[in-house]
Amino acid sequence: QSFDDIDLSPLMRRAVARAGFTKPSPIQGSLIPLALEGVDVIGQARTGTGKTAAFSIPILEQLDSLEDCRDPQAIIVVPTRELADQVGRELERLAFGVPTEIAVLAGGKNINRQLRQLQNGVQVVVGTPGRLHDHLQRKSLRTDKVWCVVLDEADRMLDIGFRPQIERILRRCPRQRQTLLLSATLPPAVQRLAKSYMIDPQIIDC
Ligand code: AMP
Repeated sequence: QSFDDIDLSPLMRRAVARAGFTKPSPIQGSLIPLALEGVDVIGQARTGTGKTAAFSIPILEQLDSLEDCRDPQAIIVVPTRELADQVGRELERLAFGVPTEIAVLAGGKNINRQLRQLQNGVQVVVGTPGRLHDHLQRKSLRTDKVWCVVLDEADRMLDIGFRPQIERILRRCPRQRQTLLLSATLPPAVQRLAKSYMIDPQIIDC
């Protein structure tokens, strides 16, 4: 399979080529087209499979431009600060050539800087459950324009004990949205989360 087999904009094709990606990984080949259709997807994939680009590409492809919307349209929830930074960098890289406001809202980082960034307008938010929840409580993070929520490494987040924060984030986002869940394993706790918050999810195993 080649990236030419996936319906991507010329700008995204250029960004993907510039990132040095010559062909889609298995998870990318399955997840990107499904995500572009707007359905909910559970992707069983571990790190190193290219899962970050798999959910980042469809989000960036469908983002309303900065002129049209300066409120968060996609929220990516990840278990750790390191992963939040990593996902943020991958998003920046794939947004090449398109002005895109991406905020990394990780715990342990200066909250005032995050508050200023949110106030200036962001399109995509990547964060850890605790800090995202904190921003929801402060009402600094708007969720009414969110059309996609990604739960990355869902099994790890539940293991850490982030279920209450994740549930609150999901409940604050519009019902009419897409939910993408990535997880290395699919234990009952992950399946219960999916059952409660996803609609007819397609399951892909890569
Ligand atoms: P991830 O599994 O998302 O942590 O990605 C692992 C690494 O593979 C990252 O450094 C990505 O930039 C890289 N990568 C993702 N997709 C591709 C691809 N299609 N071709 C080559 N490298 C890729």
